[in-house]
Amino acid sequence: MSEYLTTIGLEVHAELSTKSGMWCGCKNDPYEKRPNVNVCEICMAHPGSLPVANKEAIKKVITVGCAVQDGENNIADFTEFDRKNYFYPDMPKGYQLSQYKFPIVTGGRVNGVKLTRIHLEEDTAKSTHDHEGYTLVDYNRAGVPLMELVTEPVIHNSEDAVSFARELQRILRYVGASDANMEMGQMRIEANISVSKDKEKFGTKVEVKNINSFASVEGAIKYEVARHIELLESGGVVVQETRGWDENKQITFSQRKKENAHDYRYFPDPDLPKLYLSKLFNIEEIKKSLPELPKQKKERYSKLGMQENYVDILIDNLELNNYFDTVVSAVGEKNATLVANYLLTDALGLLAKDSTLSLPDKANFAKLITMNIDGDISSRGAKDILAILMKKDQDPEVYAKENNLIQTTDTESLKKIVQEVVAENPKQVADYKSGKEAMFMYFVGQCMKKSKGSGNPALFQELLKEALK
Ligand code: ADP
Ligand code: MG
Ligand code: ZN
Repeated sequence: MSEYLTTIGLEVHAELSTKSGMWCGCKNDPYEKRPNVNVCEICMAHPGSLPVANKEAIKKVITVGCAVQDGENNIADFTEFDRKNYFYPDMPKGYQLSQYKFPIVTGGRVNGVKLTRIHLEEDTAKSTHDHEGYTLVDYNRAGVPLMELVTEPVIHNSEDAVSFARELQRILRYVGASDANMEMGQMRIEANISVSKDKEKFGTKVEVKNINSFASVEGAIKYEVARHIELLESGGVVVQETRGWDENKQITFSQRKKENAHDYRYFPDPDLPKLYLSKLFNIEEIKKSLPELPKQKKERYSKLGMQENYVDILIDNLELNNYFDTVVSAVGEKNATLVANYLLTDALGLLAKDSTLSLPDKANFAKLITMNIDGDISSRGAKDILAILMKKDQDPEVYAKENNLIQTTDTESLKKIVQEVVAENPKQVADYKSGKEAMFMYFVGQCMKKSKGSGNPALFQELLKEALK
């Protein structure tokens, strides 16, 4: 079956994390549980109301555009908003404000995938179908700024589609455009899929909607590709249509055929001004103020000599990698792997077991690691203190002093302990001297015990070797 070439183009919607709606002052709050509280006459397009375009939303789309720029400028100088006319219960106005001929961004690239465009529109309301046959509509989401990104049909398998979507999610989060949680519907994917034996000609495409997880992107594409090939092999044809993804059954199902596709009658919205972006924004300034992007961060982490799974955990979690970066800049890059061990293995391990814990203040965490590097506390001590700080954050140095966890590097007092241990264990000393070298670690253990863990083990070893000669 491999003689078929799969072609995929993705359309990704992302809710922008602005303070207010796309055209009005209504709060943009994805966590609002009460239905229909963030709604006003502008959201509803009541007669006499006038929309005002949200500058913050436009800036976020420009920022995303700058982040995906691929050599040449991809930010439009001129842009406008169009009415996309259709009547649907989740569209209170009877039309959706979107962009048709003049999107804010044209071109760019993410993970090697060429982008067609990125435009700005508004989200629709949320419908909940209950089992008695009623549909409840919550308009809080209607009018929330929504970005739509469209790729060229240049992806050829489900794995690349998922990698693309993951990288896009990171970019949206890094530049602060969207929280992009797929489970919350803040990032939604539609996949256009076709297969063809003729490498020069595309097959008929099918669009799959309602994809709400990365696993579903993969599942829906694999399912469709297999369905198309089976159809074609058995002499059938693929019908151009929109299909939905059934998460439970792991299948796609037909939603609407091309024949009754909508005619949206796009036209420029007469209530909104035309926008000349280079007059409204300093695009160069936006470009310069871009944060470190996921790809750059990944390269930097790899150069620090960290293991791959650590790099992957970090780049996928902006909060965590900001934390990591701050601590590393305090303790020095040469200690990056040590920081990663404490943060990603020890601290995250504790968090996974007890969600009431929290990461300590970055400065305290850095101090703890520095104390370990300087030999003030043992690795065991550092881990114990870390667990304490995660329960109740405090200065690790103060805590270590109060609890006698500071390792003594005072040679004279350690020497005394060594002499005592040697004197108290004559039989073991004799064994050791007659060749039982494994005994040595027993003495080290005894010394550590006697010092209540506060002795520097390396120093004990040195002194013991001397004493047992
Ligand atoms: P439509 O007008 O049906 O919305 P577009 O040309 O706007 O189609 O393309 C929508 C999406 O479908 C884009 O992501 C594009 O890359 C993708 N696409 C177009 N043709 C194909 C095809 N034959 N196979 C797979 N994807 C396609
Ligand atoms: Mg389309
Ligand atoms: Zn409103």
